[in-house]
Amino acid sequence: MTKELNLTEKLKHYFGFEKFKGDQEAIIRNLLAGHDTFVLMPTGGGKSLCYQLPSLIMEGTAIVVSPLIALMKNQVDVINGISEEDGVAHYLNSSLKKAEIDKVRADIVSGRTKLLYVAPESLNKEENMAFLKSVKISFYAIDEAHCISEWGHDFRPEYRKIRYAIDTIGAAPVIALTATATDKVRTDIIRSLGIEDCAEFKSSFNRPNLYYEVRAKRSDDDTSKQIIKFIKQHTGKSGIIYCLSRKKVEELAAILQANDIKAAPYHAGLDSETRSKTQDDFLMEELDVIVATIAFGMGIDKPDVRFVIHYDIPKSLEGYYQETGRAGRDGKEGICIVFYSKNDLKKLEKFMEGKPVAEQDIGRQLLQETEAYAESSVCRRKMLLHYFGEEYPKDNCCMCDNCLHPKKKIEAMNQLLIV
Ligand code: ADP
Ligand code: MG
Ligand code: ZN
Repeated sequence: MTKELNLTEKLKHYFGFEKFKGDQEAIIRNLLAGHDTFVLMPTGGGKSLCYQLPSLIMEGTAIVVSPLIALMKNQVDVINGISEEDGVAHYLNSSLKKAEIDKVRADIVSGRTKLLYVAPESLNKEENMAFLKSVKISFYAIDEAHCISEWGHDFRPEYRKIRYAIDTIGAAPVIALTATATDKVRTDIIRSLGIEDCAEFKSSFNRPNLYYEVRAKRSDDDTSKQIIKFIKQHTGKSGIIYCLSRKKVEELAAILQANDIKAAPYHAGLDSETRSKTQDDFLMEELDVIVATIAFGMGIDKPDVRFVIHYDIPKSLEGYYQETGRAGRDGKEGICIVFYSKNDLKKLEKFMEGKPVAEQDIGRQLLQETEAYAESSVCRRKMLLHYFGEEYPKDNCCMCDNCLHPKKKIEAMNQLLIV
């Protein structure tokens, strides 16, 4: 009889955690048994551990595909911080110099590297594939796997070539992980990675501590006023305000500053030094509010963000869910407000006109879903979860505008007043 591996002991030994969260243990056992695995878990659910722990237990090196250099560096530092040995985790991306790459390769060949983070571009490089061919690979982890799909909120064409790289380097089990739960994205991921027989693990996407509200956007001026009022009612609390354009980010940040709010702009047009200073100031609470394009947020782990406001309607409900998901990661209060106008919707449709037809079709459909959400009088939570294929069991969540202030009643009351 084989004795079952005590994973909780390993968890405690390597990470210092007492017990697994959600499906973590089942996911890890499935991967250890050599099966392909698909993991759908909301942000903050603990996806990284699902590949980090098995990589430390299994023979060989696990390859982790991850889209962002900053995320990779952060995770590698964490792993190297918890292990007694040096070089247990490494990353390969375009930021490394020749000498650094040589060191990474030497550590891999020596067998001490258990986790190798790679950007998809680096994985697909001929010379890297040729090198990795000679290495014993324990498994492949595809983090942020929704980047494979055009239906996701962050499509990266290079992610589409991962299967080819795996076939070239040498087959091993594949674990794909994402917080993007729509069925289209899921199907794309499974097909593109060729893991049709995988075991699937899906956790609930409900975030019970988040309050959802849609407000009508009457004018820019009125919206700014409402935002200032809201922030003043939440003095000293951290929040993020998303705008679609860099210009609006700059304008709104200036307006907030002029109203004595500790706010700063963040978008991809600012130099990297300014951006990382803004990010640090926000984490260190020198700043209360960041006004940003969607360039801000992925990989930001500030647990006490108390509100996320969308100045403009987002391009998809998927993106909306991810962005609002940055509020209340500590499980405490998180207020999510989106300003909605038909005009903004039309503007977004117009933006799409120059794009390829297939892309336009996808973009329009995503917008329609957002529109339906904004105009509905159904519980917002129910709608969001439904979007992710999840049935919310109650009719009233008591934590959204539609549940707390049902529209029909307000309309009926207005009519009574008129009469
Ligand atoms: P995700 O990638 O799903 O967004 P992360 O992997 O970044 O989530 O994990 C979120 C947080 O949860 C991290 O701070 C991580 O250390 C913590 N965490 C993960 N697993 C456990 C566990 N079993 N017990 C306690 N904390 C955990
Ligand atoms: Mg993650
Ligand atoms: Zn509700």
